Amino acid sequence: MNQIEIDNVSCGYSQREVLKQISLCIQPGKVLVLLGPNGSGKTTLLRALFNLVIVNQGKVLLEGQAVNQLSRKQIAQKLALSPQMEAPQWPMTVEETVQLGRSSHRGWVQPFQAEDTEIVDTALQQTGLAELSQRKITEISGGEWRRTLIARALAQQTNVLCLDEPTTGLDLKYQVEILSLIRNLAHERDLTVVLTLHDLNLASCFADQIVLLSQGRIAATGTGEEVLTEERLSDVYQTKVKVLPHPEYQTPFIVPVL
Ligand code: ADP
Repeated sequence: MNQIEIDNVSCGYSQREVLKQISLCIQPGKVLVLLGPNGSGKTTLLRALFNLVIVNQGKVLLEGQAVNQLSRKQIAQKLALSPQMEAPQWPMTVEETVQLGRSSHRGWVQPFQAEDTEIVDTALQQTGLAELSQRKITEISGGEWRRTLIARALAQQTNVLCLDEPTTGLDLKYQVEILSLIRNLAHERDLTVVLTLHDLNLASCFADQIVLLSQGRIAATGTGEEVLTEERLSDVYQTKVKVLPHPEYQTPFIVPVL
């Protein structure tokens, strides 16, 4: 069964329809990257998976169930989100923030079990945060906060992980580490990963499937080789680019032509 099925969905906000006639099947064990210029609808598509937008047409199915028939708790047990923008508001520690990822499993009042502690510790280690675990989130860098949000999503232990621009604000080491971790989790544990990226070259290196959005429609979908062509990228991004073979992997390597 497809983990996620988006069937002819048109959706958006009260005054504005953003996505038009989107159809997409997302399978387990794959990393799907949403690409597209600013405002093309990437975040709106992620929101549609969580039933957070107004769907005018079509349906979104999670493991065969219509998402608009599921409670928020049921959705939280199936999908985890690392959002693009969430400010660290309260002086909680990094560890306490990551522990919030367990709340959809144990409720707010049930005590933490040994298993929860182990899952939180693993998420902290996987994101390189173990040494910062007792630091207040109001006293960490933007990159460390971004990794905290990813750790919280990992601690939710869902079958689907959605990440909105997970590499924004991270230095090169953590961009590569986080995307490698996510790809390994997808391939080794059959996790379904949907993420938005701006960096076409990171997408080319890490995606199993790319969906290129343009003005609320799917301009192309497929592997990096299939989607990332000179003509298409120059057209969708309205910027002339050259696509060369990556010197190490032969995957598409995109450079702007100035
Ligand atoms: P992307 O993630 O590709 O940058 P978005 O999905 O954030 O694009 O936005 C797509 C379009 O939807 C944009 O035109 C944006 O202005 C509009 N939009 C985004 N969020 C809202 C909102 N909450 N209410 C109304 N319009 C919105």
